[in-house]
Amino acid sequence: MHFETINPADATRPAQALCAQTGPDFFFPEPGSSVREAKRICALCELRRACLDYALTNDERFGVWGGLSEKERLALRRVSG
Ligand code: SF4
Repeated sequence: MHFETINPADATRPAQALCAQTGPDFFFPEPGSSVREAKRICALCELRRACLDYALTNDERFGVWGGLSEKERLALRRVSG
């Protein structure tokens, strides 16, 4: 349910954030569990870019944000950082 932290003042976000429809389980899986479903949902989400930007800006460490896992975000930060 990442939309709440992206822009809580924007009432249109919940309808656009596909994770709001699926629930948080896919996006915060148990360690070692697959993130494939979460990434598949993110690929279809209109908020993907804003969501990823938010996660990178706020150094979100856990879960899938904007289609990237925590390891992928860490790698992206190292490359661009
Ligand atoms: S990109 Fe993924 S995690 Fe972010 S709001 Fe959309 S569905 Fe949720």
